[in-house]
Amino acid sequence: MADEIRVRFAPSPTGPFHIGGARSALFNFLLARKTGGKMILRIEDTDLERSSRESEENIKAALKWLGMDWDEGIDVGGPNGPYRQTERLDIYKKYTEQLLAEGKAYYCYCTDEELEAERQALLAKGEMPRYMGHCRNLTPEQRAEYEKQGRKPTVRFKVPANQQIVVHDLVRGDVTFDSNGIGDFVIVKSDGIPTYNYAVVIDDHLMKINHVIRAEEHLSNTPRQCLVYDALGFEKPVFGHISLILGKDHTKMSKRHGATSVDQYRQLGYLPAGINNFLALLGWAPNSEQEIFSMEELIKEFSMEHVAKNPAVFDLDKLNFINQHYVRQLNEEEFFEFAKPHLQTVGYLKGTENGEQLDWLKKVVWTSHEHVCYGAQIPEYIKMYFTEDVVMENEETAQVLKAATVPQVMQSFIEEIGKIELDAANVKALFKSIQKSTGLKGKDVFMPVRVALTGNQHGPELAEIIPLFGKEKCIARVERVLKNGN
Ligand code: GLU
Repeated sequence: MADEIRVRFAPSPTGPFHIGGARSALFNFLLARKTGGKMILRIEDTDLERSSRESEENIKAALKWLGMDWDEGIDVGGPNGPYRQTERLDIYKKYTEQLLAEGKAYYCYCTDEELEAERQALLAKGEMPRYMGHCRNLTPEQRAEYEKQGRKPTVRFKVPANQQIVVHDLVRGDVTFDSNGIGDFVIVKSDGIPTYNYAVVIDDHLMKINHVIRAEEHLSNTPRQCLVYDALGFEKPVFGHISLILGKDHTKMSKRHGATSVDQYRQLGYLPAGINNFLALLGWAPNSEQEIFSMEELIKEFSMEHVAKNPAVFDLDKLNFINQHYVRQLNEEEFFEFAKPHLQTVGYLKGTENGEQLDWLKKVVWTSHEHVCYGAQIPEYIKMYFTEDVVMENEETAQVLKAATVPQVMQSFIEEIGKIELDAANVKALFKSIQKSTGLKGKDVFMPVRVALTGNQHGPELAEIIPLFGKEKCIARVERVLKNGN
């Protein structure tokens, strides 16, 4: 299939997997799945110091968790491997030799200190710092002299002068760069490892990538890559640079804005469907007002034509809203599973519970189902079932228990609760009986009981709370009010 769309996600495994990386992966994945094309996962680990297998594993695990699979690449293999750049050094070497032989690249012996001095001199003159070509035309004797000094050369790409480089970008249209602003850049470092701008071109070509969809920050790298494509006689892919992700204050999304890695969101109890849905809307906009999209719907609806140029704003409230939609779709069993890690963190689930205790816990957890946006909010919502002391939320609430009628209500509550089986219907009837026997109105009955039991004037229905508290706890709390007045 000549026209099959082939895209890739090519992360550098240098740290936590950022939410922006997941968005790039998703856009590529959606494009591949929508068009029946291929998704390739390549690991760009040429930064030897910062790359780690741990980070690579983390990225793969996150992609799998999000439900994005790949057709070729790391782990799954394929005809264009290996798919880890450090295992492709021989391949790059062949092309480097070709470029050197054709005079399109050259060895550079400048030291870091010399390069820095050049940079400073250009800056002092108010010029853009770039490599001015000191080693471009070394004679064999000069090279031999440097070699004798033990200098290890880099390989630089010879940037042609006076060229307009036009990047055809699906998101941004044609973007033109002037080659005179680009100094001869390093394609192979002195340790023999290729640089990103070089390896990426060879890999994308050999892996037959025809659509390069990636973050906007790489747009400025693209003219260099275009020059390498041309020098090697490779056909260029179509590019699409998706906009930066900004925080709500419109500055670049960073740790200051809260969680930034996929793993942090997973740990907070966001669901893959919620994250995917939210990430898709960070830069892509459907034709309609629809905000909730399952992965199947995203695959159906997604198109690069509706990917916007302007920056995407990471709106946590929106993520919460979307995630809550998916949380609400979980049934009782699923929701309990979802809650477990969060319950364990705070000790509400110890692992030693018997069947009855687990049934109780499940019911308690289920009371939060409609009310939480993500898993880590569950313990807070249900904490009243686990705390021994009733803490008054504020002074105004404490005053509720000072009303003259409170002792009668408490007394009647103790009497009536003794007579019933605790379930929601009976609890409602119980309040009717208290009203009858005390002659008081609804609020004067409900509110003191609510405050006595929970310390709060708001919260879930008493018909929900009381059966889960059980008689003993309810009576103890009400007796305490009778005894101490709070
Ligand atoms: N390894 C690069 C990164 O993680 C990939 C850039 C690209 O997609 O070309 O940013």
